Amino acid sequence: MLSVVGIGPGSLDLMTERAKERITSADVIMGNERYIELIEKIIPESAEVIIGKMGTEVERAKKAVELGKHKNVVLISGGDAGIYGMAGLIIEVIGYTEKETKLEIIPGITAAFASAALLGAPLSNDFAVVSLSDLLVPWNEIEKKLAGLAKIDIVVVIYNPMSKTRKVQLEYAHQVFMKYRDRKTLVGIVKNAEREGCEIEITSLEELPDFYHRIDMSTTIIIGCSRTKKLRGLMVTRRGYERKYNYGGVEARHMSNPVHEPGDYVEAGSRIWELSKAIVGDIVSKYPGPLSENEKRVAERVVFANADPSFLNLLVFKHNPVEAGIQCIKDGKIIITDIEMVKAGISKKYRDRVMCFLNAPKSTETARKEGLTKTAAGIRLAKELICNNIVVIGNAPSACEELCTLVESGIKPDLAVITPVGFVNASETKEKILSMDVPCIAIKGSRGGTPSAVAIINAIIEIAHQ
Ligand code: SAH
Repeated sequence: MLSVVGIGPGSLDLMTERAKERITSADVIMGNERYIELIEKIIPESAEVIIGKMGTEVERAKKAVELGKHKNVVLISGGDAGIYGMAGLIIEVIGYTEKETKLEIIPGITAAFASAALLGAPLSNDFAVVSLSDLLVPWNEIEKKLAGLAKIDIVVVIYNPMSKTRKVQLEYAHQVFMKYRDRKTLVGIVKNAEREGCEIEITSLEELPDFYHRIDMSTTIIIGCSRTKKLRGLMVTRRGYERKYNYGGVEARHMSNPVHEPGDYVEAGSRIWELSKAIVGDIVSKYPGPLSENEKRVAERVVFANADPSFLNLLVFKHNPVEAGIQCIKDGKIIITDIEMVKAGISKKYRDRVMCFLNAPKSTETARKEGLTKTAAGIRLAKELICNNIVVIGNAPSACEELCTLVESGIKPDLAVITPVGFVNASETKEKILSMDVPCIAIKGSRGGTPSAVAIINAIIEIAHQ
């Protein structure tokens, strides 16, 4: 029987029970010197120990397969034997030569996982692993993988970063990541994880070169992504819970993001967005009254668009309007707006379903004839379309007044978003539509405007498209 055993990063208590059992009952134990040393204490006296050197792996693999025909042979690898370890080679050798040897592969804790746990939880989201060793893989292949990964926002674990003679690879990797990633991206460095001489550092991409003199073949480097943060000295890549749930204060959710500096472009934008979301989330959690998850998202968008917490006290939801709006968007229903600016602000995804009649050929004439404002005339002209669709009034109280008239005559939209501004009749007309049997989201009082209207409808469009 040949057991290919991953012994974990170093500490015996991080080795699996099964691995220990195989080692303690082995006839032959094979491995390189460093790994044999790590398990010395549990090697049985009766076992023959065959120490291999770096670069003699194929020979060792063949020998292990041969001996495994009649004896219990344990071939050890550091970490996990299947990750840049001996397991793959053994299977290849058996595949080509010998089929009698019984084979088992016993997993171990790989360096990435041991290092991640010491740093915190940097691998909580998607990640990739790359070895910088070009002893077996041509450098141009490694280079391509690094460039591809640096461009996408994913955590990258680097094995074999540097040896005494091999230094340029890490320098190259660093340059590629500096080119595509925020230079404040967090980087974790773990040397001798779970072994004597363990060192743990959390730094930034731009400062990584300061640590080159401490990096060697027993070091694993974890390059974070834009979702990787530092909290209480620990590195953590956010899985996304903060998008759905409120927990802790703003500071806890924001965590200590790298400081924004000019030139950070996209990453800086996303950091500001994350922080804003956290602040707005806290504000909205104080809404007077219960809110559904979707209503909360609409409220957050309104507060965010205006950067004004007082909007929260003016925001009203009547007759389950958010759910009604989501259904309308899913059904591809039309949106009528009072002015072009509201139309222009609506998400591109849906803008081809938006109509505004303010500048329709007949609006001036209708306004003059009927004694209406032009915006009110625009709503009247849309009257055939308003029933069972969405109306968004972001500017003119007179347009809202006209909508009230239409509702009184039995023309009811499925959702009315009502945020017109003004000192004359804005407040009153909003109260009027809110007293009617129409699903309505409104900003009460004299305030509101296009930003609020657009924030509300875009939040609904976003939810509907998820
Ligand atoms: N099979 C091993 C990896 C072998 S490649 C495993 O699963 O862990 C060797 C590389 O692994 C080293 O260059 C280093 O990058 C990493 N490594 C192995 N043990 C480590 C340890 N204790 N601490 C930090 N990195 C380690």
